[in-house]
Amino acid sequence: MKLIRLTNRTLIASLALFLTLAFVGTTFADPLVVYTARKEHLIKPLFDQYTQKTGVKIEYITGKAPVLLQRIKSEGPRTAADLLITVDAGNLWHAANEGILLPVQSIKLTANVPEHLRDPGNQWFGLSIRARTMVYSTERVKPGELTTYEALADSLWKKRLLLRTSKKVYNQSLVAMLIAEHGEAKTEALVRGWVGNLAAAPFSNDTKVMEAILAGQGDVGVVNTYYFGRLQKKNPGLALKLFWPNQSGNGVHINVSGAGVVKHSKQKEKAVAFLEWLSSPEAQKVLADANMEYPVNAKVEPHANVAAWGSFKQNPINLAKAGEHQAQAIRLMDRAGYK
Ligand code: FE
Repeated sequence: MKLIRLTNRTLIASLALFLTLAFVGTTFADPLVVYTARKEHLIKPLFDQYTQKTGVKIEYITGKAPVLLQRIKSEGPRTAADLLITVDAGNLWHAANEGILLPVQSIKLTANVPEHLRDPGNQWFGLSIRARTMVYSTERVKPGELTTYEALADSLWKKRLLLRTSKKVYNQSLVAMLIAEHGEAKTEALVRGWVGNLAAAPFSNDTKVMEAILAGQGDVGVVNTYYFGRLQKKNPGLALKLFWPNQSGNGVHINVSGAGVVKHSKQKEKAVAFLEWLSSPEAQKVLADANMEYPVNAKVEPHANVAAWGSFKQNPINLAKAGEHQAQAIRLMDRAGYK
């Protein structure tokens, strides 16, 4: 009798232990797997902070956006990825369009991420904002000369304009958003005007555009704000300044870094919880400050160095348009001779 009771107790204890392990196995022990096109040094501190806060471990691989996207696609239901993090709405749109992301209904994400910075189908959400705006020589550009993106096509800027290559998704998104705003014909005329005003062949990156302005090769360029921030950090006395165009019109062209839950994730709830946390004030501060970007969450102030550039009106057109018109933008830039 005593023996049976003991056996039962042992059995119950073993069962309890098994259930506990099973519970731990799916809730805490399995790491979240993130495929990220953001650089490790910008994103790792957030992973560590989340692990410390929740006990959820995060594993990640980094790579270029199109490579990660293709990898998730080819891995299909066998993928280890729970979350895709990347930059540029054009890339996020492609991920959604390829069917690798999961629509997520979340009150927190809807409240924290403004509508124009997230997918209308809720497959991706912007997490930080970068403006693609004008940078100019404070020595050679007079106040009032700069007005709009459209005006950079005017003869005032003949042999004064510098641009980055049209091969970069940032410029493809910028032109795609201009197509959404003006239509194809007007945008093509505008891009032809830019090309006609170039003071040098397009550069391979935004920093080179600014260095060329400093070297006197041109007077004005179009860059992402954080590249200006990096250069300014190295040299605070830079003879360069940012300008916010189109302020009496539709506003400055912006873009985002963002993320989406992978459709074949085996830990969807955990992935959504992490994504929600990334949009929370606590994470937004770290995420935006790490790369001198603007938080998407309006409750969070940008870094003092970023705030010092002044506030500006953002173009409110939904960023999904950057993806929808991307192929059209690439063909248009090619026709317009924008290399
Ligand atoms: Fe960049």
